[in-house]
Amino acid sequence: MIYLDYQATTPVAPEVAKAMQPWIEEKFANPHSPSRWGHEAAAAIEVARKQVEKAMGLKGGSVAFTGSATEAINWALKGMVEKSGGRRHRVITVATEHAAVLDTCEWLAGQGVDLTVLPVGADGRLDLSLLARELDHRVLMVAVMQVNNEIGVTHPISEIADMAHKAGALMFCDAVQAFGRVELCKGPDLVAVSAHKIHGPKGIGALWMRKGREPAPLIHGGGQEQGLRSGTLSPELCVGFGAAARLAGERSTRDYDHVQKLWNAAIQSLGNGWTVNGSTAHRYHGNLNLRRQGLDGARLIADMRDVAFSLGSACASGSGRPSHVLRALGLDYRDARSSIRLGFGRYTTQQELVDACRRIAAHAIAQEKLDA
Ligand code: PLP
Repeated sequence: MIYLDYQATTPVAPEVAKAMQPWIEEKFANPHSPSRWGHEAAAAIEVARKQVEKAMGLKGGSVAFTGSATEAINWALKGMVEKSGGRRHRVITVATEHAAVLDTCEWLAGQGVDLTVLPVGADGRLDLSLLARELDHRVLMVAVMQVNNEIGVTHPISEIADMAHKAGALMFCDAVQAFGRVELCKGPDLVAVSAHKIHGPKGIGALWMRKGREPAPLIHGGGQEQGLRSGTLSPELCVGFGAAARLAGERSTRDYDHVQKLWNAAIQSLGNGWTVNGSTAHRYHGNLNLRRQGLDGARLIADMRDVAFSLGSACASGSGRPSHVLRALGLDYRDARSSIRLGFGRYTTQQELVDACRRIAAHAIAQEKLDA
């Protein structure tokens, strides 16, 4: 199989699997228990925390582990609304955010939060003058992602954080698709990341919190994570996340350059007739979301069973609904259904990508002939 779905998840790095192994097979102690084995597990978790914090490269805060980035996002948004106690009750976000942000914001709106969802332009980018117009003393938080999961388009997070702070608001950033791929933007107060997008294990995420900006707990119980998040931590998942973060830091230039080469090779081998969805300049180039007039994306995926790629986001693909991100770009229903997403990275070889792209192009042309 040729795997071109790096936005949905990434293959676990061999170094990560190796680092996790002893914690799965032998070292099973509860990291919160006072035994020597418990202390050893707790120490390994602290090493992992430092590895994730180092790779994130943000100053003035620390990381709490969560069960996923989805949990980190829910925690950041709901926990800050709770902590504010109604002093500020507006949340501003963007139409192209991941469902974890949008659905949480909608849930908050159901609880009385005043929600504003800003549109994006045809290139998928936010017009900052729209944001400036909305920012006032009622805004508690601005939530904008750094790299979009469906189209790879980036937002100027540091600039947005400055604007939010000048209005006395907080800034939350979903950096799930940015972490380990591009440098994280400085400025946000809260940042969510996930291990499985950086060649780590599934089932673990993290919330970076600026000191003094910690949200109220979302999950109550033993208070294992600094009294802020409850639940026994998994040493193997934390160690795996730490190893993946260390590797991402060490390989950042190599991985980034590799992705640039892959992008150029993919564009070349697909040939004519394709339009890239979203800005090509303000983009992470490991995400190639494109459309072709008349293409039936779902049929293409079904026809090419040995190549794994996606319609838009993994969630949108599963639901059969056209992607809310592509609709936000102004694409009509037909154009959205004619779009596919190719995602590649560290372990993708140029040869397999070129092969897959040539075959995708050939299948698309065959579809056109059949439908003519
Ligand atoms: N945010 C973005 C941009 C994502 O791409 C994803 C995963 O698809 C998530 C949040 C959720 O991450 P997790 O799978 O760790 O819950």
